[in-house]
This record gives sequence, structure tokens and C-alpha cells, in this order.
Amino acid sequence: ATPTALAVGTGRGSQLGIVIRGPEVLESTRDIDTIMLDKTGTVTEGRMSVARTTLSAPALQLAAAAESGSEHPVARAIIDYAAAVPSEGRVSVDKFTGHPGGGVSATVNGHGVLVGRAGWLSELGVTVPADAVTGADSDRAPGSALTPGTTLVLVAIDGDLAGSVSVTDRVKDGAADAIAQFLQLGLHPILLTGDREQAARAVAAEVGIDDVIADVRPEDKARVVADRQSAGAVVAMVGDGVNDAAALATADLGLAMGTGTDVAIEASDLTLVRGDLTVAADAVRLARRTLSTIK
Ligand code: ADP
Ligand code: MG
Repeated sequence: ATPTALAVGTGRGSQLGIVIRGPEVLESTRDIDTIMLDKTGTVTEGRMSVARTTLSAPALQLAAAAESGSEHPVARAIIDYAAAVPSEGRVSVDKFTGHPGGGVSATVNGHGVLVGRAGWLSELGVTVPADAVTGADSDRAPGSALTPGTTLVLVAIDGDLAGSVSVTDRVKDGAADAIAQFLQLGLHPILLTGDREQAARAVAAEVGIDDVIADVRPEDKARVVADRQSAGAVVAMVGDGVNDAAALATADLGLAMGTGTDVAIEASDLTLVRGDLTVAADAVRLARRTLSTIK
């Protein structure tokens, strides 16, 4: 490949709304056969909102306060929701810790508060009855067969389960179109997420992805990518979060959402400026065209 033709390719990229780290990136883009996509913020908008909660108003305030140090879309949803519920008194937050792929922990007004995935709370010793989890699946908004799964988070206060919050997100406009284009380009799309299987399946079905790998911890996302690579696949990973950074760096091609975190953008080879997934298909076409005219 000659440097000039590659430079033309990268120049075209910026018109399309792609930032390409270096000319050599086009070469890995051309060879991609598998594209792994993070769910939240990548296939979905990542602007979550609370659909339902079983928390009392005071417990909701503690949960929102515990989330105040987190930038996760679930945190934003809970904070915004709680802000609309009248509350008395002030809260003091201590010892906030974010646990990527799990949830958050903090001391709020002297109470130990955990907000996060059911599995993560169980690991920390909170007793989580099965119906606290399965309840949420029958919990879709009325008449909304297309609701892309509900993300369920549980709240524990001083070690005891206080209730749940169901959070919903919307699939991005254009996501289904992008998946159709990936398939046309011969790419195998896989949804890779830390969320529950059920929520992941619903989103996958809505956009036309058959292959789902759910309940994946942030530290395991990179391993899943590496496993596919050892099986011979040339893997692109698309993500937006801190939890995607290692997988983005491991992939043959890392694509970050320009709307995502800086950590993800830094770990990637290519940035989709407006967070538009169809532009990833444009990038593959651009790479194939550019590199075939060079030969
Ligand atoms: P994804 O791969 O879909 O971006 P993450 O790995 O960020 O998901 O998170 C996986 C799960 O961990 C979320 O679905 C949520 O249940 C839980 N979680 C992560 N961060 C938080 C948080 N700040 N508050 C509550 N739950 C969280
Ligand atoms: Mg994400």
C-alpha cells in the first residue's frame, strides 16, 4: 500500500465522520470478518430512564446519592428520576467506589449502599431472592413487545435488599440498518455485553443480531475478543465505555463511539464521531475500496 493512497483514504474518512488513528488502520479494517458490539451506548442510545422502581422514597434518595459519582447511564437514569421525587434533608456521600460491570458502593448518611447487578450484589453477600430478578422480565411496559429489554439493578442498604430499579434504553436509529450493512459486507455481528442475557437478547432481536454473549465482565470482554482471534477471526470491536477499553485495544480494529468516554477513544484505532454505527460500515467499504485501488 502506498502512503499517498492511504492518506487519501484517511482524508475521506474525516468527511464521513470517522477519525482514523493512522493510515495502517485501513489495512486492518479491510480484513475484518467479525464485528463485536457493546450494547449500552453503542447499539442503544445509552440514555436510560427509570421505568419502574420498588424502592421507598428514602431508599431511592440513598441509591441516587450513591450513584452521584458514577457516569454510567444507569446512574444518570436513577439520579434524574430521584431528582423529580420530593425528598427531605440533605445527604452526605462517603467512600464512593465504582465497580465497572457491577455497580457502585458508597456510604450515604452513614448507611452502606450498594446499587448494581443482581449477581454482583450476591457476590458481595446480599441475599437476592430469585423473584427479585425474574420479576423484572414480566415487567415490560404494557403493550410494548418491542421494548428492548429492561436492565434491572438492585439496591441494598446495610447489607439487606431494599428493592429494584428497572431501567430502559432505546435502540439507536440506524442500528438495525448498520447491522444489515455489516451482514451484506460479510461481517459476523456479535452483541457483547455486561448486561443480562434477557435484556441483551431483546436488543439483539430488535436490530437483527443472532449471536449474543451476555453477562461478560469488563475484564473478560478482552478475553472474548482474543478467543475469537485464536479461532482465526479478524475482529473489530465497537464500544463506548471504560469497560470496553481493553477489548478495543485487543481487537484487530477498535472502533470507539465519539459520544463515548475518552478512555474508549484513546484505546481505539478509529472513532465514529457522531456515534453512528452505519459509519462503521462506510469505513469498511472505504478501506476495501482504497486498498484495492492501490494494488
Ligand atoms: P454494557 O456492557 O452493556 O455497557 P456494563 O458492563 O457497563 O454494561 O454494566 C453491566 C451491568 O452492571 C449493567 O447492566 C448494570 O446492571 C450494572 N452496572 C454497571 N454500572 C452500574 C452503576 N453505576 N449502577 C448500577 N448498575 C451498574
Ligand atoms: Mg457501553
